[in-house]
Amino acid sequence: MFSTRCKLLLDWYGEHGRDLPWRRTRDPYRIWISEIMLQQTQVSTALPRYLAWFDRFPDIRSLAAAPLDDLLKQWEGLGYYRRVRLMHQAAMKIVCEHDGEFPDAFEAIMALPGIGRSTAGAIASFCFAANTPVLDGNVKRVLKRWHGTADAADKQLWQLAQGAIDLSGDPACWNQAMMELGAMLCTARSADCKACPVQQHCASSFQIDYSVEPRRRVPVRHLHWQVHIHISPQKGIWLQQRPGSGIWASLWTPPIIELQDVPDTAPVYIHQLTHRRIHLYPLLSDAAPSGAGRWVRRLEGYALPTGIHRLLEKTDLA
Ligand code: SF4
Repeated sequence: MFSTRCKLLLDWYGEHGRDLPWRRTRDPYRIWISEIMLQQTQVSTALPRYLAWFDRFPDIRSLAAAPLDDLLKQWEGLGYYRRVRLMHQAAMKIVCEHDGEFPDAFEAIMALPGIGRSTAGAIASFCFAANTPVLDGNVKRVLKRWHGTADAADKQLWQLAQGAIDLSGDPACWNQAMMELGAMLCTARSADCKACPVQQHCASSFQIDYSVEPRRRVPVRHLHWQVHIHISPQKGIWLQQRPGSGIWASLWTPPIIELQDVPDTAPVYIHQLTHRRIHLYPLLSDAAPSGAGRWVRRLEGYALPTGIHRLLEKTDLA
């Protein structure tokens, strides 16, 4: 039964899988960048950014040699900037420890900063034909539905994923097909069982009870930030680089003061992060700025958080 399911899924993927640029290459550098970019970013958003990335950083050595600021600028707007810092560290490690060649062993891939078991599985299978499963959110959901185990723990899911890929005969296509099924037909909001290639072999087909599927509830904390905007007609806007850890780490912003009390006025812009809702209140200041920072005439050379871009737009200062 399982091999039938494998064939049905692989056939469906061969016919219906989206033609995406990272599916046309086996270059581990390009696959790696796509995997990191797609972790928290939708395909439609990632696509143009993925292509532009290689114009700026054509290979691992150019990535490792670039200043972190350049990477952050190239990543601007994609969010979750921690990914970029870890990519930079990983690129330097590849240059130092692997002579600039992306490692081909699963353990060595997983030892790189920012690469977990699932991402390592994707790279090893797509580039080196290893039987290493992907277990991202989409694949977990599909496996749970197939097996009718809505509350299965990760350990069990890894075993199921490994068993499936071992039987597939084509680990690269298998992982892509599982991810594609979860992204296109068997989604969190709905399951198109009618169009699904494995409907006859799935424990949940046409009978998903969405109310029993566990959903991740993320507690959100509200922050109220006053953004001190110093503008000089001659010198531009005063920016500071934020610390290397925490929210918007290493990005450039006007000076920010965290308010302890919620202001009476409404925020000009609210920026939503996974665990935080940042209420931004601009304060135009005539006073001379103090502390570390610099006057910036053109923002193009600096990586600013999307929330600050939006705030400046709303205050006609962009
Ligand atoms: S039959 Fe339905 S629930 Fe099962 S994998 Fe296909 S889309 Fe998902």
